[in-house]
Amino acid sequence: MPRDYTYGPFQSRRLGLSLGVDVLPKIKTCTFDCVYCEIGNTIHLVSPKFRISSPPTHKFEKELRDILKYFPHLASITFGYNGEPTLNENLMEFYDIALKVRNELRWTGTPPHLTLFTNSSTLHFEDIQERVKNFEIVLAKLDAATQADYIRINRPHKLCPENDRIIDSLIHLREKMTSNKLVLQCLMLNSHRKDFSPNFNDKNIEKLAFAIQKIKPNEVQIYSLARIPAEYFVFSIDEKQKNQIKNVFNQIIDNKNIKISYF
Ligand code: SF4
Repeated sequence: MPRDYTYGPFQSRRLGLSLGVDVLPKIKTCTFDCVYCEIGNTIHLVSPKFRISSPPTHKFEKELRDILKYFPHLASITFGYNGEPTLNENLMEFYDIALKVRNELRWTGTPPHLTLFTNSSTLHFEDIQERVKNFEIVLAKLDAATQADYIRINRPHKLCPENDRIIDSLIHLREKMTSNKLVLQCLMLNSHRKDFSPNFNDKNIEKLAFAIQKIKPNEVQIYSLARIPAEYFVFSIDEKQKNQIKNVFNQIIDNKNIKISYF
């Protein structure tokens, strides 16, 4: 059966068995052009104000039901793949259908979570926050806490908010997410190029820790490249370096309610 909306499920290191849901057109549409993006450079680099109107067709519900009946042990129905999913104004129509299907099916254990990936660049808009806060798990990107690292690593569209504003919007979102879970994802990388400083640097790591302390997410996931990146000159940090970041975070954040993990 050709699929229009879903991919996988795949075993994810951070989510368990996860079915991906793509709510965007097939051309990657994103407000960032991250140097490490595993789906290549962003052809359609858009402003965070850009909106797509693309409601789900009747095929979405059918596709979900046809696949999910084979995976009663699924851990997550995960929105976001081909860019930034909050750009689709009809995101919540997808969510409502997924919630209905999830609640009607039988599961062998805990039903799968409804999870959203976001790069955090649209979270300063109130209407987007009101949508995003409904997801049971929000995986929000925060790779940098200095403007320079943010510009170099995420290569945002020129109308994207500054890094400090993104951090403020995450603080605000966290306050709204009373029962659902906010997870910050920090992708840290190294660079082969002498003129390209990686975000794995002391200043960025320290500033990230102070930002996390203010945001108070439920969890922070430190990870690195696992697939071929958009740019040849970046490469993965190793286990020792991930652990080093975890230790700095724990030392500065000093909050037992924030779980810090690395993958
Ligand atoms: S935000 Fe995600 S989809 Fe967009 S460029 Fe970065 S890694 Fe790729």
